[in-house]
Amino acid sequence: MKFYFSDRYNVPLPANHTFPMQKYFLLRKMLLERKIVSESELIESSPVRADDLVLAHSADYVQSILLGTVSADVMRRIGFPWSEDLVVRALAAAGGTMSAAQSALEDGFSGNLAGGTHHAHRAEGEGYCIFNDFAIAIRHLIQNGKIERAAIVDLDVHQGNGNASILGGRDDIYILSIQGERNFPFRRVDSTVDVDLPDGTSDFLYLETLSKFLPAVFEFKPDIVFYQAGVDPLKEDRLGRLALSLEGLIQRDRMVFEQAKSAGVPVCLAIGGGYALPVELTVTAHANTFAAARSVFG
Ligand SMILES: [Zn+2]
Repeated sequence: MKFYFSDRYNVPLPANHTFPMQKYFLLRKMLLERKIVSESELIESSPVRADDLVLAHSADYVQSILLGTVSADVMRRIGFPWSEDLVVRALAAAGGTMSAAQSALEDGFSGNLAGGTHHAHRAEGEGYCIFNDFAIAIRHLIQNGKIERAAIVDLDVHQGNGNASILGGRDDIYILSIQGERNFPFRRVDSTVDVDLPDGTSDFLYLETLSKFLPAVFEFKPDIVFYQAGVDPLKEDRLGRLALSLEGLIQRDRMVFEQAKSAGVPVCLAIGGGYALPVELTVTAHANTFAAARSVFG
């Protein structure tokens, strides 16, 4: 199996920033320590090319991010201060997902130790998302004749409004997004199927809901599934409002991987959000997703 990482995923942020930037480095360390991945399976992500960025984003927006001329308003909605390091990070994260998608088509499964930036729209980012990695990768694969149909399973606790705004309304793409009903984003865009869960939803209702809506993803017969495995439905998450346990998240991940495997559909994994403290709890939850993938895909 191949897994994509970058030392550039970590960018210094102002003190007390909510975003746990150090989780990327810690995840790689934990995956190696727990022997979920081996050093030889870790591949450095290449930056996404401008040609591919404009498959999902407007040329003006791409230029404004690359050159640092993006408006203060857009950067405020993104939630990070602009810096060259931040641009390099965004390019590496999207590049990692593009490579993981290609590897998934070859090997049946691959993952990026970042990505899942599902709030990025065509002409602006928001919610810690600058470029939309799934939209770029899917558009690239379709454009190059590698796939005809794709599905996204987005189980981050926040609705995938950017995925829906860039990729929605096409009959070759199916998007399932399951989220907390009272959570960010407040400007939503409809997915193929959106499922809203009440505050405090715990393992049983969550897994029941997923088991009800997941089969339709595979009945769509996608050539690949992109899985946004955000761990922010965790009870301890500061932004999540749901109440899943670590074990519930593992069962969630296994359900996605097992159904994909039995349908013979390759999976490209991106980690998505996670804001529980201490950060080790978030990192453990992300690492568990990779462990679940390993136990299903071998
Ligand atoms: Zn999230």
